[in-house]
Amino acid sequence: MTLATLMYHDVVSAGRWDDSGFAGSAAAHYKLETANFIAHLDAMRAAGTTFADPDTVAGGQYDGCLLTYDDGGASASVAGELMKARGIRGCFFITTGRIGSAGFVDAPALRALRQQGHLIGSHSHTHPANISALDAYALHDEWRRSVDTLEQILGERVHTASVPGGFMSASVLRAADAAGIRTLFTSEPTTREWHSGSCAVLGRYALLRSDAPATAVALAVGEGSARLRQWAAWNVKKPLKRWAGPVYRFARARLLHGRVQT
Ligand SMILES: [Zn+2]
Repeated sequence: MTLATLMYHDVVSAGRWDDSGFAGSAAAHYKLETANFIAHLDAMRAAGTTFADPDTVAGGQYDGCLLTYDDGGASASVAGELMKARGIRGCFFITTGRIGSAGFVDAPALRALRQQGHLIGSHSHTHPANISALDAYALHDEWRRSVDTLEQILGERVHTASVPGGFMSASVLRAADAAGIRTLFTSEPTTREWHSGSCAVLGRYALLRSDAPATAVALAVGEGSARLRQWAAWNVKKPLKRWAGPVYRFARARLLHGRVQT
C-alpha cells in the first residue's frame, strides 16, 4: 500500500492570479487556472485513480492518491465544490492568521468544506518566510495558535498540518508534535512516510500552473519518471545541509544507501 499525495494551492480564473491566496508572481507559480484544474481532476478520474479518504489517511492508513491544498486562499471553496461534484475528498491546509481577510477563506467557508467531507488542517498561523528559522517558543506558538483557531471554528480536534514553504526541520517537527499534530505533510516529493515522536511525516508532489493534466496523472499513479524527476529536482535545489537533526540524517542515510524511493 502506498499513498501518493499531491500538493495544490489556489485555483483561479484565467489570468486572475491574485484573486486567491498570497499575492505576487512567486505565489502565482503554484496557482492553477480553473479550466486546467478541472482537466487535472477529470484526467485522474479517467485514469482510474483511487482517491484516498483524508480522514483515513489522518488515521494512519496510507493508500491511494490524496489531494491537498496549501495556504487557505478563498478558492478553497471552488476546489472543494469541484472535487465534491466528482466524489473526491481532499485536505485543505489553512494559514489561520489570514482567515476572513481579502483573498482567503472565512470561517463559514471552512465549515462548509468540512461538511462536504474535506479535511481541514493547519498551515501555521502566519506562514513565516522560513518557519525553520524560528525559535522553539515562536514555533510552538505558530502551530498551537493555528490549531486552536481551527478547532474553535470547526468544533472538532485538528491534528493534521502542512509545513509552510516546505521549510522542514527537526525543530519544526518537534513543535508540531508538541502542539498535537499527528500527521505532518512536507514538500519532499516522496511516497515514503516516516515517524517521529507521535507524528507521521508524509511527502507530497507539487503541481504548478504550467503542469498539464498528464503530469497530475503520472504523479498520482506513479507512471513514467514524473515522481523521480521531482525527487531529483528537489535534491538539487534544496541543500540537505540546511536540514537539521533527524530529518537530515534520515534523508542522508537514504541517499547514501541508494534507496531512493519516489
Ligand atoms: Zn504555503
